[in-house]
Amino acid sequence: MTNRIFNFAAGPAVLPEPVLEEARRDLLALPGVGMSVMEISHRSKTFEAIIQGCEADIRELAGISSDYHVLFLQGGASLQFAMVPMNLLPAGGKADYIVTGSWGKKAVKEAQKIGTVQIAGSTEPENFTRVPAASELKLDPAAAYVHYTSNETIHGVEWQQEPQTADVALVCDASSDIFSRPIEVGKYGLIYAGAQKNLGPSGVTLVIVRNDLLERGPKNLPAMLDYRVQAENKSLYNTPPAFGVYIMGLTIKWLLAAGGLEAIGRQNAAKAKLLYDAIDASGGYYRPHARPGHRSHMNVTFRLPAEDREKKFVAEATAAHLDGLKGHRSVGGIRASIYNAFPKAGVEKLVEFMQEFATKNG
Ligand code: PMP
Repeated sequence: MTNRIFNFAAGPAVLPEPVLEEARRDLLALPGVGMSVMEISHRSKTFEAIIQGCEADIRELAGISSDYHVLFLQGGASLQFAMVPMNLLPAGGKADYIVTGSWGKKAVKEAQKIGTVQIAGSTEPENFTRVPAASELKLDPAAAYVHYTSNETIHGVEWQQEPQTADVALVCDASSDIFSRPIEVGKYGLIYAGAQKNLGPSGVTLVIVRNDLLERGPKNLPAMLDYRVQAENKSLYNTPPAFGVYIMGLTIKWLLAAGGLEAIGRQNAAKAKLLYDAIDASGGYYRPHARPGHRSHMNVTFRLPAEDREKKFVAEATAAHLDGLKGHRSVGGIRASIYNAFPKAGVEKLVEFMQEFATKNG
C-alpha cells in the first residue's frame, strides 16, 4: 500500500489498513470456504459465525451484558431517527430531545411525525458551539425517553459525559463517536450508530437496545421497523448487509487487538490535542468552532480569517494529500475528521501544514 493519502472525510471515512488488507486478501475466497463473503448464504454456518462473532466481540469490547440486544440493521442512522419513536414513543406519550447540532435537529423532525417531542435543551441560539449544562436541561420525568447526539459531526461538538436522566431511558445517536472511548452501556436504553465512521462501510447500522424497551413497541409495526422482530430473528429477518457486518467484525477485532476502548480513547485524545493545540497557538489565525470543554475528539472544526483563504487552504491541503478537509456547508471553514482509524502521522502532517499556511498567508 503506497498510494493511500490522509483521508479527513467525515464519513464514509478512513478504515484501519489491516482491515482493508485482510478483506482484500480474503475477497475472492474466505479461507476454507472458497467463496467470497458476498457470495454465501446469510443462513450458512460461515455467515452465522461471522455475525455471531461480531456480536460477541462488540459485547467484549464495550462490556455489554445480556440485558441488551445487539442488532445489525439497515437504513443508516437516519432510519433510527424514525424507528426510535416508532418503537419507544407510545401513543399519547412525550419524548425529550436535547439538540446540539444538525443531526439532533433531524432526529427531532422525524420524531415529530410520530408523536410529541419536547425540546429539553438546545444550544442552537449559540450556533451549536457547546452542549448544554445539566442545569439548563428541562427534563420531564414522565418522558418516554431522552434522545441526544453524543457527537455532532458537522459542528464538532461532543458531550464529555452523557446527560443524567434518572429513570428515563437514555437514547443516544453515537454515529460519529461510537467506540472512540470507554462507554458505560448500562447507563443507556438504546445506542445507535451508522457504521461508516468508526465501524466499517455504510449500509449497516449498529443498534444496542435494552431488552425491556423491546416490549414497548406497538404490535402492528412493519416487520423491518420493529426492533422486536429484528431481535427475535438475530438481525436475520431478511438478507442482512453481509459485507458490512463482515468488515465491522474485522474492525472490532482490530480495536480489541489495539487494546480496546481505553487505549483507543487515549490515542484519540492525543490526536485531537495536537490539532486543538495548533489552533490555540495560532494567535487567532485559526478560530475553533466549539468551545473548550465541548470540543469533539472526532471532528475538529475551525475557520480561517477569510473565506478565500479557507478555499486556498483546502485546495493546497488536497494537493499535499490531506484530503476531505472542507467543512460542512452549514458551518463553513475546515473540518478535520480524525476517527479511530485515522493515523497520528496524518494529524502531525496537518499541524505542520497549518503552521506553514498561516505563516505564508497571514
Ligand atoms: N447522526 C450523525 C451524528 C451523523 O453524523 C450522521 C451521518 N453523518 C447521521 C446521523 C446520519 O447517518 P446515515 O447517513 O447513516 O443515515
